[in-house]
Amino acid sequence: MKKPKITVIGSINMDLTTTTERIPAQGETLHGLSFATYPGGKGFNQAVAAARAGAEVSMVGAIGDDSFGQELSQMLMEEKINPVGVRSIKGLATGTATILLTEGDNRIIVVPGANGKVSAEQVEAQKETIAESDMVLLQLEIPLKAVEKAAEIAYEAGVPIILNPAPAQPLSNQLLEKITYLTPNETEISEIVSDENIHRLQDKLIITKGEQGVVFYQDGHPVNIPAYPVEALDTTGAGDTFCGLLSARLAQGDSLRNACNYANAGAALSVMKPGAQGGMPADSDVIQFMR
Ligand code: ATP
Repeated sequence: MKKPKITVIGSINMDLTTTTERIPAQGETLHGLSFATYPGGKGFNQAVAAARAGAEVSMVGAIGDDSFGQELSQMLMEEKINPVGVRSIKGLATGTATILLTEGDNRIIVVPGANGKVSAEQVEAQKETIAESDMVLLQLEIPLKAVEKAAEIAYEAGVPIILNPAPAQPLSNQLLEKITYLTPNETEISEIVSDENIHRLQDKLIITKGEQGVVFYQDGHPVNIPAYPVEALDTTGAGDTFCGLLSARLAQGDSLRNACNYANAGAALSVMKPGAQGGMPADSDVIQFMR
């Protein structure tokens, strides 16, 4: 089967994770238990999920001219993601998420760094790549102007668009009407769509509900695609795995029902392993798991 072409326009981060027995109090210094860095950012995560599912993925985004940027650029290559639209920005730090992890709690600070400089002009420069895609995949961790430009180009070229509206923020009708599928989780849905608008957007909605799976609407009726029952170890990036796999399958022409089932299976596999990208499965793993 021909590999579907997906363009992801989004964030690229390094996650800096410290595990500790407890969170330090104000002014206190503690010895932590462990430290590790992991590639992240919703854009990069979803690109990896789609690439491992067998799609030919191109990425548009930004990194800083620091060691994290170099490392992430190497990782993009290792995942066979085409970095055609990834800019390295002089004098800026790569985006980071500093994560303090204790048993049963986490505290996270995200610094956008270079991600905050992804511009509409930079997206415009990748017009051809976007227009030649089978699917465009967007999130909200880069400036909204860049997201809107990507949606405009894809829409005009007749390329379907998945928008994972995270982190949630109010979105204009002008943007929403160009989107083919919106994939909020249950908390994000109320922040992006008002109750009176939900009817108008119903056909686009694919709501992820953690261990309950997903819901979409067909002729106004909810269709529930259950999750796969597994022992969850780390649900970080479950939503990103879901979106990446969904995009790969829909871009291949799969039905919404089958694509959601495949993405649920892959996301279930991902929560059984630590880290966002660490647990993202290859296509063959998902197919075997679904048997
Ligand atoms: P995150 O922000 O952690 O990436 P999210 O809130 O965006 O996640 P969820 O709705 O929690 O997204 O999960 C996305 C999908 O992952 C679900 O629709 C489901 O298919 C799968 N999933 C999540 N948690 C579990 C679980 N405990 N068991 C099985 N599948 C799960």
